[in-house]
Amino acid sequence: MASPALLMRLVASAYSVAEKAAAIVRKVMAGGDLGIVEKCGANDLQTKADRLVQMSICSSLARKFPKLTIIGEEDLPSYDVDEELIENGQYEEILKKTCPPQYSTIKEEELVVWVDPLDGTKEYTEGLLDHVTVLIGIAYGGKAIAGIINQPYYNYEAGADAVLGRTIWGVLGLGAFGFQLKEVPDGKHIIITTRSHSSKMVNDCIGAMNPDTVVRVGGAGNKVIHLIEGKASAYVFASPGCKKWDTCAPEAILHAVGGKLTDIHGNSLHYNKEVKHMNSAGVLATLRNFDYYASRVPDSVKQGLVP
Ligand code: AMP
Ligand code: MG
Ligand code: MG
Repeated sequence: MASPALLMRLVASAYSVAEKAAAIVRKVMAGGDLGIVEKCGANDLQTKADRLVQMSICSSLARKFPKLTIIGEEDLPSYDVDEELIENGQYEEILKKTCPPQYSTIKEEELVVWVDPLDGTKEYTEGLLDHVTVLIGIAYGGKAIAGIINQPYYNYEAGADAVLGRTIWGVLGLGAFGFQLKEVPDGKHIIITTRSHSSKMVNDCIGAMNPDTVVRVGGAGNKVIHLIEGKASAYVFASPGCKKWDTCAPEAILHAVGGKLTDIHGNSLHYNKEVKHMNSAGVLATLRNFDYYASRVPDSVKQGLVP
């Protein structure tokens, strides 16, 4: 058999790297000293876990795939990384799958990897552990085409017998794996949004959509998991603040199962390496019925969020 395509080798490595990342996230929390630093204020935090995980993911992938462009959230000085942080594994199940033909000849230098080492840091520091995810998104031609979401504390309240943590992954044209796809019952409008970065505009936009329920949780990765598991119908965030590393992996996984993630105007997001990091025009995402939510975004909100 021919050797697996580069994209599949990268996804298989990123899967293992994300599992190592999750172990680091749990170890830092268990150690008790989070080493919290404020980046742009009290709602924009960085912990020791954000720092160690970013070094682990970026160094591990860069060693194996030296021509990749890797963009991580945290601004860290570049110095020699501790060998203990390096992960070399590749998840074999991914290597067994066939790469979608449109991606089978991609070269390393054509890919951009967007890394959020710990999404939901605010919630991590507050002990809302199942809100936390590790995000590795892969873009080609400016488009999110593959992603890994690891949830280090999945099952943490389920009792000692339950396996702690899980990894969800997906590739456009192949599908998404590691969870059970489910839809919200027809006609129910469950909106999921931020819990720590709210504003009048965020709430005005949600109000205009006639929600039956509004769920407020941390993390972009966590919110997209709610969409694909039938726990929410739409992720609505009418505000700047969310960045490309927050949306790349979740978008790829959502799109791989037929969903849609855009800015609040319904415009696609771009993930080429030169792009502005901030998603200035917010986020709108659904598994189904995208047009219902997009058509209800008020003009005042659209005017307030310029791409
Ligand atoms: P949230 O839904 O509030 O958990 O936000 C999703 C992602 O976007 C997280 O990584 C947040 O850190 C980031 N984010 C959203 N709004 C802001 C903001 N106002 N300042 C900094 N980060 C933000
Ligand atoms: Mg984040
Ligand atoms: Mg983060």
